[in-house]
Amino acid sequence: MTRVLVVEDEPNIAFALEMDLQTEGFQTTVAGTGPDGLAAAAREAFDLILLDVMLPGKDGFDVCRELRRSGVRTPIILLTAKTHDAEKVLGLDLGADDYVTKPFNPHELRARIRAVLRRTPGATDQTEAFRFGNATVDFGRAEVTREGQVVDLTAIEFKLLSTFIRGRGRLFSRDQLLDAVWGAGVSLNDRVVDNHIVSLRRKIEPVPTEPRFLMNIRGLGYRFDA
Ligand code: CA
Repeated sequence: MTRVLVVEDEPNIAFALEMDLQTEGFQTTVAGTGPDGLAAAAREAFDLILLDVMLPGKDGFDVCRELRRSGVRTPIILLTAKTHDAEKVLGLDLGADDYVTKPFNPHELRARIRAVLRRTPGATDQTEAFRFGNATVDFGRAEVTREGQVVDLTAIEFKLLSTFIRGRGRLFSRDQLLDAVWGAGVSLNDRVVDNHIVSLRRKIEPVPTEPRFLMNIRGLGYRFDA
């Protein structure tokens, strides 16, 4: 059973989240302050943490940072009150996996949760094939075909595409893509990402100049929609 830790101080929101998650078949634990959240995450193993930003005791940014520093790798979705904070999630080196802006709609939150759980190691079946447009991605063979023809992708392009597919619907900053594809700590210019996106689009987009799948989110990064 998937276990979710909800760190949220507003009882109504915490209750609504619990009801929603339990309907989805998740097991939930609620903590009402930053320190309680940290303690719960240290005490038990969770599959996912929903972490409010505005919390008594210690805010969600600090809780997130401390969890990562202490080696907790559980996926974290931050619940932010403002778009301004949402941008910070991507800008700061917090180690969060995604964010949802309040007031969130349950449908969007569920989609984000599914996306985050899907890209958790072990949660993705790497032998599965994924189809979008006229393309098929065969993860077992590390091969992409379009209408039966093999598309000539470089190893980096395949890795980039796989990262997007595993995290489809999620916004990736250029830094996050550099970490995921080229490796954490590698110091490369952001332009490297843009250049590879351009070449990947040429190979997978029906009309590369009007992308349908690999979307540029101005100033923030890229998102794969399929
Ligand atoms: Ca709050």
